[in-house]
Amino acid sequence: MRYCSTRGQVQGLSFKETVMMGLANDGGLLLPEQIPRLSPAELAELADLPYAEVAFQIISRFATDIPAVDLKDLIDRSYAGFDHPEVTPLVQQGDLYILELFHGPTLAFKDIALQFLGNLFEYLLEQNGERMNIIGATSGDTGSAAIYGVRGKRNINIFIMHPEGRVSPIQELQMTTVTDKNVFNLAVDGTFDDAQSIVKEIFGDLEFKQRYALGAVNSINWARVLAQVVYYFYAWIQVQKQTGCSEIEFSVPTGNFGDIFAGFIAREMGVPIKRLILATNSNNILSRFVLDGDYSTAEVHQSFSPSMDIQVASNLERYLYFLFDRDSGKLCSAMEEFKQTGKLLMNKEQRREVQKTFAAATVNDDTTLATIRNFFTQTGYILDPHTAVGVAAGRQITSGGCPLVCLATAHPAKFGEAVNKAIGQDPILPPAFQGIAELPKRVERIAAETELIRNYVADHAL
Ligand SMILES: *Cc1c(COP(=O)(O)O)cnc(C)c1O
Repeated sequence: MRYCSTRGQVQGLSFKETVMMGLANDGGLLLPEQIPRLSPAELAELADLPYAEVAFQIISRFATDIPAVDLKDLIDRSYAGFDHPEVTPLVQQGDLYILELFHGPTLAFKDIALQFLGNLFEYLLEQNGERMNIIGATSGDTGSAAIYGVRGKRNINIFIMHPEGRVSPIQELQMTTVTDKNVFNLAVDGTFDDAQSIVKEIFGDLEFKQRYALGAVNSINWARVLAQVVYYFYAWIQVQKQTGCSEIEFSVPTGNFGDIFAGFIAREMGVPIKRLILATNSNNILSRFVLDGDYSTAEVHQSFSPSMDIQVASNLERYLYFLFDRDSGKLCSAMEEFKQTGKLLMNKEQRREVQKTFAAATVNDDTTLATIRNFFTQTGYILDPHTAVGVAAGRQITSGGCPLVCLATAHPAKFGEAVNKAIGQDPILPPAFQGIAELPKRVERIAAETELIRNYVADHAL
């Protein structure tokens, strides 16, 4: 399997090279040259396999330059620490199926990709005799999942900046109570945007980037998308077993278009997905893209589902590349236009094509809380606010006639404040997190100044 960039200047990469490159050197995103399609017979063969085995069957079709025994071991180790034997169990609640993606170490779906990516990085660095210093900024979920993905790993240090006092208490504790030597938590005196622009500046210094072998873990890495493709297969298998229906719909709480793009790949690979429902909060650039063919930025609003508070969805470029029939020239002009004007408009034909695969709805904060409340009253099950956005959107626009699977992207205890607002009680923290506030912490407070942070990285880098 070979990989190329959406922008056309990088071609013929192996899987290993693709993972190590992250963002393509031409500024584009990396994709496989072809998407393998499974026959109905091959799909049926997955039916009785445990999660890690399904993962191996899918991932091995893309990671063709990693020996099978090694890949199996990487996958097994990535999912052994999940607190549910099925890794991503599917539970029926009322007329819906909830795919619980929050059984990893930080209680959010990003663990599914980042546990795998951490092991993969360690394996590839060891092979190449290289090291990596990961730098990132987080508004909450990604930072803790990335830290848990690489804690204690050889040849990797990680520096994660979070805006001091502006992430939820549990998210902060999840990061700062990791005391492994290779993990550096920086509590930055500033906002998330300040921290993010410092990261960009540091990466923009190419000499520094090379000297310290800087790496990133953001959702543009192909290995992250790939690990997420697996649970669309797994969910379809479970639903089919339980209902006998072959076609299903998914509702996906969406921010950066990473998770739902994995669903698109699963559909291309032959999973009978009727439609993917794209659910956004009031930061609805992507819903507008699907409904009106209008991809134009607006201001970011704070919502009860903060991990979806984004305006520019970096993974959309991957989908646009398919929409433009893999025409890099067309894609490059579109991205340039977007950069210049903050706006892209699809024509009628493109809009029709998008709507063959996707439906979309926007869910505001009031509806999010009402959904948590009503769902709890009806079923006794507590949704986190991100999942509630997906449930509300799914209910509104499901085409009916086939099972609807809503992706549960976080455990409700991670967003206890919003849940409490909705149902007047706190969700119960899973056992691994009880007593977390009393654990020893490792965190450095630092001013939001690029020079200070660059020096800190230089002093503590591998
Ligand atoms: C990151 C995140 C999302 C959004 O996922 P994307 O891949 O960015 O679309 C949704 N819910 C939660 C809880 C998240 O952490």
